Amino acid sequence: MALLELNNVSAAYGPVRALEGVSLEVNDGEIVCLLGSNAAGKTTTLRTILGMVPAHKGEIRFNEERIDELRTQDIVGRGVTMVPENRRLFAKMSVRENLEIGANLRTDKKEIREDMERVFVLFPRLKERIGQRAGTLSGGEQQMLAIGRALMAKPSVLLMDEPSMGLAPILVEQVFDTIKEINELGTTILLVEQNAHVALSIADRGYVLQTGRIVLHDEAHALLEHPQLSQAYLGELD
Ligand code: ATP
Repeated sequence: MALLELNNVSAAYGPVRALEGVSLEVNDGEIVCLLGSNAAGKTTTLRTILGMVPAHKGEIRFNEERIDELRTQDIVGRGVTMVPENRRLFAKMSVRENLEIGANLRTDKKEIREDMERVFVLFPRLKERIGQRAGTLSGGEQQMLAIGRALMAKPSVLLMDEPSMGLAPILVEQVFDTIKEINELGTTILLVEQNAHVALSIADRGYVLQTGRIVLHDEAHALLEHPQLSQAYLGELD
């Protein structure tokens, strides 16, 4: 079943057309990656799903219900959360406070505490640094905290924007292992990445965006062998 579905969605920033008729679906339990070069519209796709950029055409459904006219916080409340590019942590707040902010739309106090413990099982390093200011964490720890904060909203679908950005290769591997683990624990994932090979190695399926349009989509293993994939990155795919 499609848990999240975009049907012919277009979006723009004033005169700049960023998405043109994007259709994609993310089924319950999948990891789907969204690939493409700089400025292809990957981040805009995630921001449009969350209602941060309005879709001026098309529709977006979550659990079969339209969400494209809802406010961002209502979309988050229904179970769609994002780990933003560059993490956007609250630098002066502690690890604990950043995690608590992730749960700020929830009222189930006992479950919030349990979910924080689950985050610490995934990322023991965060527990060791619970009182430390987020701005003083290493890049890898900050990425863990950004993922942990998003998980505190208890999402059904997690939108992840370039989680590998700025991380050393060994950490990229760890972050992707964790994404796989989060998925195995029951969270559906839509992953934006420039690092196509790493993303496809953990994904079920992938879509390739080029100047705001989906130009290719397939099973991850088929995309890995697709001769046009590298061309798509060079902007040569017609
Ligand atoms: P990157 O990998 O570089 O982050 P991307 O695929 O995520 O790229 P987007 O950030 O979605 O691409 O940008 C798509 C297009 O929309 C680009 O042409 C970009 O310049 C434009 N754009 C993005 N944000 C804005 C904004 N706030 N105002 C105006 N134009 C924007």
